[in-house]
Amino acid sequence: MRESLETIAGEIDKCTRCVLGRSRNHAVPGEGNRNARLMLIGEAPGREEDEKGRPFVGRAGRLLTQVLNDAGLTREEVFITSVIKCRPPNNRRPRKKEIRACLPYLRKQITAINPRVILLLGGVAAESLLGIRKVGEARGKPIRKDRVYLITYHPAAVLRNINLLSSLSEDIRLAKKLAYSET
Ligand code: SF4
Repeated sequence: MRESLETIAGEIDKCTRCVLGRSRNHAVPGEGNRNARLMLIGEAPGREEDEKGRPFVGRAGRLLTQVLNDAGLTREEVFITSVIKCRPPNNRRPRKKEIRACLPYLRKQITAINPRVILLLGGVAAESLLGIRKVGEARGKPIRKDRVYLITYHPAAVLRNINLLSSLSEDIRLAKKLAYSET
């Protein structure tokens, strides 16, 4: 059965399936257009996301918003979320068992939204959904499965290495083109 995004968010808010549920201030289910053609999936909430209960609102989020806007997209048009819905302490990489525990929520969100294109931001998202580890090799190439997947760099990686910015911009423009083309 297809659950609504609100029902899924309610389940996430109460969730204690993994240890991250104990240390969070706010779970971060994600936000945006419930009928989005394009869905963006990152790794996990950071400090500011945990404080506000909203995805991608820290430095990396501001960069992502800017790149989306430069491509002619607003945050309200797309849906933004992450593989893991609660902040890992000190922003450590999520553990495999945490990803396994949390992934059913993401899968239900994908079913509810049914986007044409999913843009995976970084290695954790790419590996969790497609089993692909090497972002640098896989990025920019559409992968057609039940829908189109694209892999790109996580905005936090771009903040650490600004040379990756042009690739992130290119990939977001390609994702937009694939999501909104009428063919
Ligand atoms: S990270 Fe996911 S599985 Fe773990 S407590 Fe939060 S919502 Fe539940």
